[in-house]
Formats: sequence, C-alpha cells, structure tokens
Amino acid sequence: MPQYLLHIPHVDRGLLSVESQVNLRALSKSVSMFDRERIRIGRRTGTLGGNGMTGGSLREALRWKSVLVGCGAAHGTVALQLGSAGKAHPHVLITAGIHGDEGPWGALAIAMLLESVPSRDLLGSVTVVPACNPLAMEADARCAPLDSLDLNRVFPGDPGGSHTQRLAGALVEHAVAGADVVVDLHGGGSWCVNAFAFSFPGCEDLAEAVGAPFLVTRESSRSVSHPSRHLGSRSRAGSAGSAGGAGAGRAGMPLSDYALSRGARVVAIEIGGRCPAENEWASRVAAGMRRVMQVAGVVARVDDDRPAMAPASAAPTASIHLGHSEVLRPSRGGVFLPEMRHEQAGRLVPAGTVLGRMVDPITLDTFQTFVAPFQPTALMLLRPAMAVLEAGAMTYVVGRVREESSPSPGTPSTPLPAGP
Ligand SMILES: [Zn+2]
Repeated sequence: MPQYLLHIPHVDRGLLSVESQVNLRALSKSVSMFDRERIRIGRRTGTLGGNGMTGGSLREALRWKSVLVGCGAAHGTVALQLGSAGKAHPHVLITAGIHGDEGPWGALAIAMLLESVPSRDLLGSVTVVPACNPLAMEADARCAPLDSLDLNRVFPGDPGGSHTQRLAGALVEHAVAGADVVVDLHGGGSWCVNAFAFSFPGCEDLAEAVGAPFLVTRESSRSVSHPSRHLGSRSRAGSAGSAGGAGAGRAGMPLSDYALSRGARVVAIEIGGRCPAENEWASRVAAGMRRVMQVAGVVARVDDDRPAMAPASAAPTASIHLGHSEVLRPSRGGVFLPEMRHEQAGRLVPAGTVLGRMVDPITLDTFQTFVAPFQPTALMLLRPAMAVLEAGAMTYVVGRVREESSPSPGTPSTPLPAGP
C-alpha cells in the first residue's frame, strides 16, 4: 500500500495511507484552506527509522534543553542550548561556534541540514549545539571575553574552572559523551572565507563525504592544534585570536582530538564565511553533513524524490587532497587590499598569481605583495575584503596539491572544484 506524506510546515502534518491510486490533485484541493506554497506532498520511499518518527523534518523533531554554565557577575550563568532527536545509535553530535566569530554561519548550515532531512529517515540519533560559545558569539570574537581562553584548547574542560573551562566540561558531559560521530563546524566566520576540511586517520570516509574543495590530513594528538590555530591565526579585524596567546600553556586539547580519544569518529569542517555566497557555502556544508550522516548510518540512504525536503543527497564534488600548507602574513601592519575575491576560495590558481597587497595606510604605497607560491596553489582560506591588519595576521592559507607519486589515494580527477 503506497503511503504519502502530507507535510504542511507549522500547520499540521501526518502520514496518509491510500488504498490504490491517489488523486494528488484532489488531495491538494482538500487542503486548499492552507497556503498552497507551504504544502508539500512527497512519496515515502524508505522504511521507518529506528526511532519510529514519521512526519516533518528533523528540525521539527528536535527537543531542546538548556544547560546553565557559570559566567560573569551580571548574569551569573549563560545557557548552553542543545537540540536532540532520536535515541538509537549511531549518535552524531554536530557542533558550531566553538569560536564565536565563526558561529552563525555554522548554525545556519545546521538549520539547513535539519530542514533537509525527513525525521523518518533518522536511524540513529542526533544532537546539535549551534552556539557552543555563546558569549564569544555575542562578542564576534574567537574567545569569550570573560577569560579569553580558546575553547578549542581546553577540552575536556574543568567543571570547577573559569567560564570557558566550564563550558568545555558541559559540552563533554552533555554532548560529547555518548557520541559515536562528531562533526565540528568551523569556518571563516566574520573575516575570511574557508574551503577545506580535515581528514582524521580512520575517518577518511567521513571527510570524503563532506565534499569540501580541499582535504587536509591531520593527525590527532595533543601536540597538534586545532584547524585555525594549527594554521596560525592572528587578526585585529576579526578578533581571530593570536598565535601563542590566550590559553597557551594551559592543559587541554581541541574538541576533535578529545572526541577521537574517546573513540568517536570525527570530521572537522572549515568551510564558508561572510561573503556574498555565504548561503551557498552553508548549503554546501549542509549537504556535506547529510552525506556524512548517511555514511555513518545515522540517517537512511534514500532516493530523494521528495520535493518536500531540500536536495542534499547529490554526489559530492571530489575533494582535492593537499599536502603542505602555508600561511601568508603581513610583514608589518597596514591596509590589506585583496586581488582574489570570495569566488576564488576553494579554487586552484597558477604559481605567481597576485593574491593581494599590503599598503601603507597613509601613502597607500604597496610594501608587500602576496603571491601564490605553488604550481598550482590551492586557496584554502582568503580574506575577500579590505581590512586593517597587524603584522603577522592570518591573511591567506594556501596549499600544495599532494603529489601523484604519494602513496596516498592520489589527486582526484576533478582539478577545479565548482566553488560554493
Ligand atoms: Zn574555529
């Protein structure tokens, strides 16, 4: 017996069974009192997930809870918000905004993902934390201003420590514990555009599923720092933290390394950021996360012929594997003028291509020109707009394509990714 899902967001929803031929036109008429633009009818093709959910998107199925974390004197506590659906394993945890200035873009991608997945496709369970570092998000800064600790350097945290250490402790207790898979969203946030993901040993299939323009292999160890910090990060304009600054010398590790140490499978995504294509990048991240969840067995693989949900199961763009990467920084403070705009993030350019310039803020004389160092050069991170930068600020992260002679899987056949 065919079954059809009648999905009317915010109004009603239910699973409709019919004996034989369904006259969809008549069905549509029968609900004509509702806004037709908001009515979606799609054929159910999968079986019920392990959670027995039937209607609506995963976003509608979320149940939210607040965990209060100690903060400053004015408020006493700040609420960490966690949304969960399902109880079965595998359980995936999706985090965004560990660094506050990267937060809203990751939260947008999470919302797009949850909207794109029918809740009945959920085989396992999911927890999302769209704003892991609320005070840092509010300050549009990498770290919470209360203690200026880098949240991604203090896991597993300390329930008796300062605010950021307590935050890490709360995330461990309420989110990381019990997670079989962790997807950690970072990105360019408010000051740059990123186009890569990190591939951890044993988690290569998850990294490939992301469909990032570039993939960088990263070992897990306490000595290897987090994506942004690992690549170096220093920015006056974007409050992107400072190399060796806050948190240096404190015990602790990135969320990804801690989750790996607990036996979870992990992928870290560094994609998107403030630019005219921010929605497209977020959509690409959402589609990538959906594929990760399919590969991990958290959601069902179904032929998506349901117009109700956003298309997110298309095959990913083959990622280009990078070997060596390098950060380009100003030799002294000044004004940064980009040549490469946001459309070039995630693309390969020939060696010698001028990427941008540093000029004197008074005379506008050029004192430094950033040039693509490799043939070809992968633009992993770039600043798409003018900025006032200090000496040493992260300006570009560029990568060398892994050589074909490498014992690695090799360079994919798609030399130029299609952008966001
Ligand atoms: Zn980050």
